[in-house]
Amino acid sequence: MAKVILNHGAGGEIMQEFISKHIICHYPKVKTDVPLDSMDDSAVVDGIVFTTDGHTVKPLIFPGGDIGRLSVAGTVNDIAVMGAEPLALSCSLVLEAGLDLDIVDEVLRSVGETSRECGVPVVTGDTKVVEAGGVDEMIMVTSAIGRRTPLLDHNLRIASEYRKVDSKWTTDDNVRPGDVIIASGTVGDHGIAILSFREGYGFESVIESDVAPLNGMIAEAMKAGGITAMKDPTRGGIANTLNEWCSKSKVGLDITEKDIPLRQGVVSACEMLGLDPFSIGNEGKVIIACVPEMAEDVLRALRGNKYGRDAAIIGRAVESEVPRVVLRTEVGGRRILEPPAGDPVPRIC
Ligand code: MG
Repeated sequence: MAKVILNHGAGGEIMQEFISKHIICHYPKVKTDVPLDSMDDSAVVDGIVFTTDGHTVKPLIFPGGDIGRLSVAGTVNDIAVMGAEPLALSCSLVLEAGLDLDIVDEVLRSVGETSRECGVPVVTGDTKVVEAGGVDEMIMVTSAIGRRTPLLDHNLRIASEYRKVDSKWTTDDNVRPGDVIIASGTVGDHGIAILSFREGYGFESVIESDVAPLNGMIAEAMKAGGITAMKDPTRGGIANTLNEWCSKSKVGLDITEKDIPLRQGVVSACEMLGLDPFSIGNEGKVIIACVPEMAEDVLRALRGNKYGRDAAIIGRAVESEVPRVVLRTEVGGRRILEPPAGDPVPRIC
C-alpha cells in the first residue's frame, strides 16, 4: 500500500504531483477567473479572491514569530500577491488536550496583533479539542477573502503601457520575456531560523524568521505600478517560485546569483548543513515580476517599506525553448536552478 510521505507536503515537485493525482482530480471542475487547477496563491470566484492555509509549524513559538503570526501573515500574503486587497480572515484551531493555556494565549494574542498590524480582522472561526496524542499541540487553519481595488487596475494599466498584459491579476502565468525579477529581501531566513532553533545548531542567535504581513508593502509597490506577477516564496523557496513561473508563463528566467540577497548566517548554516538557501522557505518575502521601464520605481517603493529594505533586482525573464531557471554563478558559470523535489526542512509552516 502506498503511504503519505513528508515530501507530499513539502512544497516542491513531489507535492505538486500529489495534489494533482490525489486531491484536485476528485473535485468537480468549475470555471472561474483563477481556477483551482491553476494552483496559484488564491482562487478568484465571482470577483472574490479566496485562499486557505493549514499551519503545522514546530515549535509553535520560534525566533522571530509563532504559529499565530505565521498563519495571519501567510494567508494575507496569498491574497496580496494576487494584487488584491485582503478583507477578512477565519481562524480554526485544533488543539491537543493537555496543551498549556499560556501558550494558547500567547499564540492567539499574536493572531490579534498581526491582524491589527495588517488591518485584516478575524471575523469567524472554529475550535476543536482532540485527545492527547491526537495532534501535536496545535494545528491552525486560516482562510481569507479579498477583493479587487482600483490600485490593481492602476498597476496593470501602467504595465500595459509597455507591453500586452494577458492576466487581470498578478498571476503566475503572467511573466513575459523582458520582465525584470525582483526579490523583496534576503531569502532562506524563515526555514533556517526554525531548523536551527529546533535542532540546536546555534544559528538562531543571528537568524530570525522573516514572518510578516506584506499587504502594505505590496500596495506601495503597486502604486509605483507595472507589476505583472507576484508570489510569496514559501515552501520550496525561490527555486520553487521561479520554476513555477517558468512552467506556467512558458518563459526562461535568467537570474544572477550574487544579486540574490542572503544573510551571512543563512549562507554559513546552509554550507554547514549542505542545504541550498534557494530551496528554503520564506514567510515575509515576495518575488515580483515587472515591466523593465518601472523596475527602479517598484524597487524604490519596496525599499521604502521596513519589510523591503534589502529588495534587489535579481534577473529577468527571457525567451526560451525550454522554460527553465538559469543561474549565473559568481565564478562566471551558468547552472540550471532545478525545481526542488521538496523543501528540505519539514514543518516550517
Ligand atoms: Mg503563496
